[in-house]
Amino acid sequence: MIDIQLNRLREMLIPVWKSNDFYKEKLRDTGFSNPEEIQTLSDYQNLPFTTKDELSTDQVAHPPYGTNLTFPQEKYTCIHQTSGTTGSPIRWLDTRESWDWWGKCWRDIYSAAEVTSADRLMIAFSFGPFIGFWSAYHGAQQLGAFTIANGGMTSDQRIRAILTNDVTVVISTPTYALRLAEVAKKEGVDLNTDSKVRVTIHAGEPGASLQSTKQRIENGWGAKAYDHIGATEVGAWGVMCKAQNGVHLNEDEFICEVIDPDSGKHADEGELVITNLGRVGMPVIRYRTGDFVKLKSEQCPCGSEHRILDGGVVGRLDNAIIIRGLNVYPATIENIILKVQDVSEFAVRAYSGDTFDELEIQIETFNPMSDETASDVIAAIQGELGLRTIVKTVSNGTLPRYELKSRRFTDDRKNK
Ligand SMILES: [Zn+2]
Repeated sequence: MIDIQLNRLREMLIPVWKSNDFYKEKLRDTGFSNPEEIQTLSDYQNLPFTTKDELSTDQVAHPPYGTNLTFPQEKYTCIHQTSGTTGSPIRWLDTRESWDWWGKCWRDIYSAAEVTSADRLMIAFSFGPFIGFWSAYHGAQQLGAFTIANGGMTSDQRIRAILTNDVTVVISTPTYALRLAEVAKKEGVDLNTDSKVRVTIHAGEPGASLQSTKQRIENGWGAKAYDHIGATEVGAWGVMCKAQNGVHLNEDEFICEVIDPDSGKHADEGELVITNLGRVGMPVIRYRTGDFVKLKSEQCPCGSEHRILDGGVVGRLDNAIIIRGLNVYPATIENIILKVQDVSEFAVRAYSGDTFDELEIQIETFNPMSDETASDVIAAIQGELGLRTIVKTVSNGTLPRYELKSRRFTDDRKNK
């Protein structure tokens, strides 16, 4: 596999080496004088890492698009931007060719989930400046599947459109899939029996790789839920196959490594580092994604040689909460809380107490204001993480609902 990957890398590097100012500068000190000299994995590992900070700094210094551009501006056909959850948004350009490459990566995601041209898709997002929805749509068009435009619709209107158009596949954040199921229920619609949806594909948050969230989505929809992972600056790199045994790295289109974030040495768990092979116009080479992942050692029963991440992306390295010496990812807490069946929604806040940092969890419950459920949540977190928490039950409808990524975690501590 590495030989094919390195072949494509060398091919990509020919124009990059010539005319991409950002990477010309970075590659200057590597000791290589042309792409042909990169022949082995260890040669590849001599290329420098790229960080999000570098990309962001470059765009600030050279507005509006920075210097990571291989071609003249007229070659580019579209622009998207990162969400800016960590730092200011980064603008990313695609050429016609790299946009088609995005579509190909999405076709890999669809085909792994056994979605075909006979399916009818709703990509349930508002179609803002983020790349996910647009690329999912482009891939669906390449596949030849019927796809519904639904930006600007309310959740209620989307439910109606799903029923009217016999939608079979829904693509959304896991949070929004649960929200749609909740709205449907209120409207007297049982998605299990009234809709034809058989597959849901989720991105933006780790939910569909968390057993408890996945179970809730599948129960709400009567469909099989798949996780998918990607990023604006990298591409759609994570694919879940029908064995649902974790998330495959798409090693046809990306070179992937896992490193210890401190030493930079290879590890079985740590930070994911990616080079994309089909985005010549604005590539990333050995890009430190900031995603914390765990490689599985065994091969997937589906037969694919592409390696698997256990539980997809476990968390972002920059959003782990260190509380009373314990390093916890929001997704881990979500998985534990949503295992308690009676919890319908929750929010977590860390704050500085008199002596220790405290973690306070507000929950909404299906059974009105159940104290027993609060005790169950306390016990579940104590049991799995050994962490004492304060849990308060609030009335239904108190906590916010989300269409895109949820913002259920806040950190109000003085010293984070
Ligand atoms: Zn597989």
